[in-house]
Amino acid sequence: MPAFRALILEDHDFQRRVGAQVLRSCGATEVYEAADGAAALDYVCSSPTPADVLLCDLKMPGMDGLAFLRHIAEHGCASSVILASAVDASIMRAAEIMAKSYGIRMVGAIDKPVSRAKLMPLLLRHFTRQISRPHAAAEQMPLTEIAAGIAARQFLPFYQPKIDVKTGMLVGAEALMRWRHPERGFIPPASFIPLMERNHLIAEVTFDLIKTVLAQIRAWQSAGLSVPVAINVSVESLRDTSLPDRLEAMTSAEGLRPNCLTIEVTETVAMTDVGHSLETLARCRMKGFELSVDDYGTGFSSMQQLTRLPLSELKIDQVFVTGAAEGTILAALLETTIGMAHRLGLKTVAEGIESNEDWNIVAQLGCDIAQGYFIAKPMPAEELAPWYGAWLGKRSGRPAE
Ligand code: C2E
Ligand code: CA
Ligand code: CA
Repeated sequence: MPAFRALILEDHDFQRRVGAQVLRSCGATEVYEAADGAAALDYVCSSPTPADVLLCDLKMPGMDGLAFLRHIAEHGCASSVILASAVDASIMRAAEIMAKSYGIRMVGAIDKPVSRAKLMPLLLRHFTRQISRPHAAAEQMPLTEIAAGIAARQFLPFYQPKIDVKTGMLVGAEALMRWRHPERGFIPPASFIPLMERNHLIAEVTFDLIKTVLAQIRAWQSAGLSVPVAINVSVESLRDTSLPDRLEAMTSAEGLRPNCLTIEVTETVAMTDVGHSLETLARCRMKGFELSVDDYGTGFSSMQQLTRLPLSELKIDQVFVTGAAEGTILAALLETTIGMAHRLGLKTVAEGIESNEDWNIVAQLGCDIAQGYFIAKPMPAEELAPWYGAWLGKRSGRPAE
C-alpha cells in the first residue's frame, strides 16, 4: 500500500476521530479532518497538498455530501472518493452514480461505522488499479490542432475485444478512436471528441474511421478471423439520413455483409432529434446493420422508451458492472436489466469487466457478452490476433468453472 494523504468529511466528532484513526491504520500519512462541507471544500480548493483519498459522509447539516461532491467536481478535483454513510443502500448507490457521472473518481462506498476491515479492501483495490491505470483529467486539445490532425489523417481506431461469456470466444470488437499525435503520442477521445462534435467535424471523421474499420474487418476475414466491429456514432451522423446508404455502399465495396458493423448510440443521442435519428437508425437496421444502445442505465429513458428503437443489443454501462459482485443492489439491477433485455430479444453486453469477480457475476446473471480491461484494453489492429491467441491459450489452461 503506498503512502497517501486523506481527508475525512464527517460532522459527528467521535465518528470523525475514529475514521481518521482508521485511515491512519490503513496507511494514511496525513489526515485532514473536516466537520462540514464548507471546510472540506475550502481544503480541496486551496490546499497546496491535496488529499489522495476523500472519505465522505452524505447526510450532514448545511452542505450535504451530494452538494460537496458536485462542488469538488466543478473544481476539477482529482482526489479519489469513498462514501461512508448510514443512509439507505439505494441512496448510497444513487450518490455513487451521481458522483461518477460528474467525473469524480469513485473508489466505493461503505456503511458506518467505518472500520479497517471495510476500508482496507477498497483502498487496496483502488491503489492497485491506479498503478495500472493512471487517470489524467481529459485535457481539451485546441480546435486548430484537431483540424490539422484531421487533415493529416491522424485519427484511427483502437479495438477492444467483445467476448462471449459462455464460450470465451471472440464475438467482435468495439472501435474506439485515438489520435496519433506526432508529439504527444496516442490521445484518448475525451480530449477531442466533444470539440469535434461542437464544431461539426465528427461526422466526417467517423466516416474515415468506418472506412478504416471495414478494410480491417476484411483483412481479418482474409486471415480467417471473423471480427464484427461496433462503432460509436454521434447525433450529427444520425441527422444525416443518407448515412445508411453510404454505409451500405462502403460495406459492399469491401465485399462485406452489413451485419459485420454494429452502430452504437447512447440513449441521449437516440432521443435527440428523434425524427431524423429514428429514420436513420430504422433504415440502418432494414439494411442489416446491427444497432446497440450504449451506456444503458446512465440516461433517463426507460426500457419502454428504448423499445421505440430497432435495437439488436443493449450495452450495460460500466457503472452498473464494475464491482457488481460486491453490492447486492448492483447485482439486482444487472439481473433485472439482463432479464428485460432478453425478453425483448436483445443481446446484452456488460462493459467495464475489470476483474474475475465482475466476469463471474455477469456470467452467473446470464449476460451474453463481456468487454473490459479484465479481458483486454483497446489495442491497435495488429495486436488483436496475437492477443486472441494468448487469450485462448490462457483459457484452455484454466480449470472448468
Ligand atoms: P464508450 O463508447 O462507452 O467506450 C467505452 C470506454 O470505456 C472506452 O474509453 C474504453 O477504453 C473504456 N473501457 C473499456 N473497458 C473498460 C474497463 O474495464 N474499465 C474502465 N474504467 N473503462 C473501460 P475511451 O476509448 O476513452 O472512449 C471514451 C468514449 O469516447 C467512448 O465511450 C465513446 O463515447 C467516445 N468515443 C470513442 N470513439 C469514438 C468514435 O469513434 N466516435 C464517437 N462519436 N465517440 C467515440
Ligand atoms: Ca461505445
Ligand atoms: Ca459505453
